Amino acid sequence: MALLRFKALERANNRSRIKVESPGKISEYFGKDVFGLPQMRGLLAPGYYKKVKNAIDNGTKVDPDTADAVASAAKSWAIDKGATHYTHWFQPLTGATAEKHDTFFDYLTGLENFKGSALVQQEPDASSFPSGGIRSTFEARGYTAWDPSSPMFVYGVTLCIPTIFVSYTGEALDNKAPLLKAVEAVDEAATKVCQLFDKKVTRVKASLGIEQEYFVIDKALYASRPDLVMAGRTVFGHNPARGQQLDDHYFGSIPPRIYDYMKDFEKEALKLGIPVSTRHNEVAPSQFEVAPVFEDINVATDHNSLLMDTMSKVAERHNLKVLFHEKPFAGLNGTGKHNNWSLITNTGVNLFQPSNSAKENLLFLTFFVNTIKAVHVYADLLRASIASAGNDHRLGANEAPPAIMSVFIGSQLNHVLDELEKRGNVKVEKGDNMYMKLGIDKIPQIILDNTDRNRTSPFAFTGNKFEFRAVGGNENPASPMTVLNAIVAEQLTQFHESVNKEMKKGTEKRLAIVSVLRKYIKESKAIRFEGDGYSDEWVKEAEKRGLSNINDSPRAFDAYLNKESLEVFGKHNILSQTELEARNEIRWESYIMKIQIESRVMGDLARNHIVPTAIAYQNKLIKNAQGLKDLGIKNGEVLNTIQVISDHISTIKREVHNMIEERKRINKIENNREKAIAYCDDIKGKYFEKIRYAV
Ligand code: ADP
Ligand code: MG
Repeated sequence: MALLRFKALERANNRSRIKVESPGKISEYFGKDVFGLPQMRGLLAPGYYKKVKNAIDNGTKVDPDTADAVASAAKSWAIDKGATHYTHWFQPLTGATAEKHDTFFDYLTGLENFKGSALVQQEPDASSFPSGGIRSTFEARGYTAWDPSSPMFVYGVTLCIPTIFVSYTGEALDNKAPLLKAVEAVDEAATKVCQLFDKKVTRVKASLGIEQEYFVIDKALYASRPDLVMAGRTVFGHNPARGQQLDDHYFGSIPPRIYDYMKDFEKEALKLGIPVSTRHNEVAPSQFEVAPVFEDINVATDHNSLLMDTMSKVAERHNLKVLFHEKPFAGLNGTGKHNNWSLITNTGVNLFQPSNSAKENLLFLTFFVNTIKAVHVYADLLRASIASAGNDHRLGANEAPPAIMSVFIGSQLNHVLDELEKRGNVKVEKGDNMYMKLGIDKIPQIILDNTDRNRTSPFAFTGNKFEFRAVGGNENPASPMTVLNAIVAEQLTQFHESVNKEMKKGTEKRLAIVSVLRKYIKESKAIRFEGDGYSDEWVKEAEKRGLSNINDSPRAFDAYLNKESLEVFGKHNILSQTELEARNEIRWESYIMKIQIESRVMGDLARNHIVPTAIAYQNKLIKNAQGLKDLGIKNGEVLNTIQVISDHISTIKREVHNMIEERKRINKIENNREKAIAYCDDIKGKYFEKIRYAV
């Protein structure tokens, strides 16, 4: 192992830079591989174009004739770009993306062919995708269905068609189907609330901008670490003398090899229509970030998967390996995927953007307060939505921030909410300036100089959007975004009902709104936290406030199945109880597999690499001790070292043996939840640190 690492280091150090052509003018290639609206407008008869556009904008169905026309146009366009195959591209519950390529070539006619029916629906042999038991109890097969709201694109030589993946009985088997439904739910609920203010609002779209963090290391160094290869993270190792304590990496100058890599993958991403715009060094050594400009949530989600895939492929070209795991290296910062989220109306108003007009600020406050309230009520569900074996190392572990959900809004907005809560009793007479009396007339000024930032908050308001920072670097953002939109949809629905009730009692509309908001501000106060989210005091304080702190994923997943969650998902037609149960089975199973792999890698490395290396060293020391003795020189220190190594070897051997025995016991547990908890507590909890320390 040691030799292998020396070789890897030598190779990494002697690498020459790969030639990268200058990226050139982005406007010349942005979206060049995307079959978007402009391409369709050019290639489709106006009648068909209108129908597709309507499907994209308003979610209407595409009729078979239109589908045929689109298929035919997409085929010619793709073939012109060198495509030979097409695939329904989807996001099964493995967390990755899936594709099965079919050729355009029709052996019967000897021509390239692509029909509307093949565009609209396909039946991939889905038996190897996780279904959490749904397929065995219902139907053996599933099908993929075209999602026109996310554009097709050519990737390599394949036309990729974004689709959803469902079982024959209609249960969602992917990440995207529920996301689309949650987005629909929040659209409906938010539109109703907007209409209290402005009847022109007929649609509200959820937007998402994803900051993706990642580590990059040389391919040879990666290959020399079986734990990185198998588990995505290093299970052994110790802190480097110089890690991130000098804070000199963040926003520092980007090393040339990485810079080449960035330019290269960004160009590929831009061609695919992914609007990447920001790049910089992150906090940990060799950690970086890329962020596209925000887009409609389902497009942003597709783009994130595609970006990660592109980054992995391009890294290969540069002899690099990109790591998205939430915690590849203990002791260094973990990897997150900050989900910047907002709601934007068809009239162009960002509902989280404070404005110059006091009246519009009431609209802002409505959405602002409702979101905070939703996070408070459904904190456990939101926590569940970001839970994974990988993220457990990043949240709730000993060196990481706790897994407590809280909202940071900055001191000024806190002040506004406190004032509103206090002054709510102020009587507003006809002709009064209600906004002034309630202290909500001054938001725009204070936001402008609100430079508060809190890097330790899992859910932070950042001026005109909320930033969900607790999402793991390797996760498909669809799960947290499904939950966030679902809970906000439910919260807004309740708000609308309460305001209507007040109004029926004869309360003036604005006052009804204010009175419900005041109630919410009071009720959700506990979730607002401005301090250091990484501190021990916060853990204590949160407990006093009655906030949950669920440290591990197997238990966090439970929240998906509690009464409130079932209600939200059911009421808004997002996921049925069967689907939620199935998904949790998959989550527990995946958790088990991941910890099992880590545990196996540990055992293998310890027994076959670490112990032999230690023994070889020990033998050298024994020779040395003998030699010293022969010469009549004191050899106490050496003997001591031999003893220490001997003790560690015994510990490693004993604990690995015990861990394996424990695995055998746990593997017999049939219930996935119990098994996952056993893997968490009795394998990871009891053995990982002990073995790591001895190694
Ligand atoms: P920071 O590092 O300061 O948090 P970045 O510029 O790195 O910010 O990333 C912010 C992300 O938020 C970008 O993807 C950006 O497009 C996105 N964003 C900006 N405004 C909105 C909005 N209204 N809704 C959703 N995302 C937004
Ligand atoms: Mg950020």
